[in-house]
Amino acid sequence: PPSPWLLSTHALDARYGDFQALFGIEFSIAPGEVVALIGANGAGKSTLLRSLMGLLPVASDMVRFDNVPVGGCPPHQMVQRGLAMVPEGRRLFTGMSVEDNLRVAIDQARRPAPGQNVPLWTIERLHALFPILKDKRRTPVESLSGGQQQMVAIARGLLSQPRLLLCDELSLGLAPLVIREIYAALPGITAAGTAIVLVEQDVALACRASNRLYCMLEGRITLTGRSADTPREAIARAYFGAG
Ligand code: ATP
Repeated sequence: PPSPWLLSTHALDARYGDFQALFGIEFSIAPGEVVALIGANGAGKSTLLRSLMGLLPVASDMVRFDNVPVGGCPPHQMVQRGLAMVPEGRRLFTGMSVEDNLRVAIDQARRPAPGQNVPLWTIERLHALFPILKDKRRTPVESLSGGQQQMVAIARGLLSQPRLLLCDELSLGLAPLVIREIYAALPGITAAGTAIVLVEQDVALACRASNRLYCMLEGRITLTGRSADTPREAIARAYFGAG
């Protein structure tokens, strides 16, 4: 039978030159699901996102999207298939307004297959998701607060009409109130069927915001389970290693 997963990996290894960063990753996510990826600095979370996005060389059958082997496809092809990434550090186009940053994303967006009955993300829908972006539409992105820049980065990702959004440390460097505001937007994203992978340092936040979690340690997945009923002690062991 066809797998129910939107994306899955099998025996995924990844390297930076001679350094092996990922070992035999078995990861999967279903349509509309929020999956948290937790682990200490250097555990390999960003590397896993980059491998899914086509930013690191991996073998074709190590990543399946819609049951199609896509490992190693270049990033622009992954975007066309329905993946988007909100990278760590946001990487917005400085010197350009909020509106112009979003226009660039619209120009590069994928065209969903006919019959794929999902409402498209438009500037108007994004203004409903993050009202502040409407007020700030003419503001150069470098004049925005960190939280507002993160909203632009998420909005830009959504404008490529993804079925899976990969988010790298949305909360990094942001104040608690702003983090709450950004996380409050996630249900509005998954309601339309888009799945989300959240790389998150804050374990409590990651558990609250996700359906399932994976914990990584030194390039390996050390724990996976439903976020609501995985004991904190088990997470601590998987996060820091035995001992
Ligand atoms: P962080 O929260 O610090 O981003 P992470 O879990 O995302 O941590 P990665 O950034 O994926 O971890 O790094 C995993 C391992 O790969 C680390 O040992 C890191 O030093 C190494 N690494 C990451 N990027 C590179 C690179 N461009 N070249 C060589 N090694 C790298």
